[in-house]
Amino acid sequence: MKKIFKRFTLAALCVLLSTIMLSACSGNTGGGTADGSSSGGAREKLTVGTYAAFPPFEYTTTNGLVGEFDGIDIAIAKKIADDNGMDLEISNIEFSGLIAAINSGKIDMAIAGMTVNDERKQNVDFSVPYYVAEQVIVVADGNTDITDAQSLKNGKKVGVVMGYTADSIVTNDLAIDEANIVRANRGIDIVQDVKNGKLDAVVIDSYTGKQLAEKNGLKVVEDKESFTAEEYAIAVQKGNTELLDKINNVLNEMLESGQIDELAAQYSEVEAQ
Ligand code: GLN
Repeated sequence: MKKIFKRFTLAALCVLLSTIMLSACSGNTGGGTADGSSSGGAREKLTVGTYAAFPPFEYTTTNGLVGEFDGIDIAIAKKIADDNGMDLEISNIEFSGLIAAINSGKIDMAIAGMTVNDERKQNVDFSVPYYVAEQVIVVADGNTDITDAQSLKNGKKVGVVMGYTADSIVTNDLAIDEANIVRANRGIDIVQDVKNGKLDAVVIDSYTGKQLAEKNGLKVVEDKESFTAEEYAIAVQKGNTELLDKINNVLNEMLESGQIDELAAQYSEVEAQ
């Protein structure tokens, strides 16, 4: 009797333990989770970090593609997870914290319209590039004196998003007076400041800049000489070739079949929130 009881206790313990482990494996830490991906525990989880304030690449909305998240990057992340039979979990992390989140293991990959550059390459590995952009200047519709990057140096108040490519261009390449640079957390907010006259200009990535300008009745100034092409890619922890191969396979397929172009066209009309 004692033995049977012991066995029963052992079995119960096993069931309990595996239940705990299973629910830990499929646990959602508050991010969005892809629909219809309930797993039974065997599926691997792909934890993705993004900063959802960069339409049309990533933004939040009431009924997003993955939970509250939507955008070109979210659609790409979903395809990577789906094609590899993985459960997708997305976390919203400030852009400047994404690389640290990869390196601490909090997320497996970051997709956030992230431009490949040498400094970042020292800390993470990048996928093949999936989109080419450049910086643009967003000004008031009636503005006539900001015609190129150099004209930003004439005492103009210039907004950038902290830690973005534009921050480095304005600070280092153009060497604009610190007193005239306003650094914010979200492009969406500083573009509003051009609209209400607090800023003369915002330097921001082209697709996002054009969309935000259009939405707010502002003008976009291009300067292809000062602002060279930059490539967006997905970042993973250094040496994580297993995941990088999976990512690159999906990206190459999407690039070759024109799916990324299709997504870019499809998301050109989104209403950023
Ligand atoms: N492409 C820019 C960068 O990598 C901005 C990215 C973003 O706003 N999410 O710095």
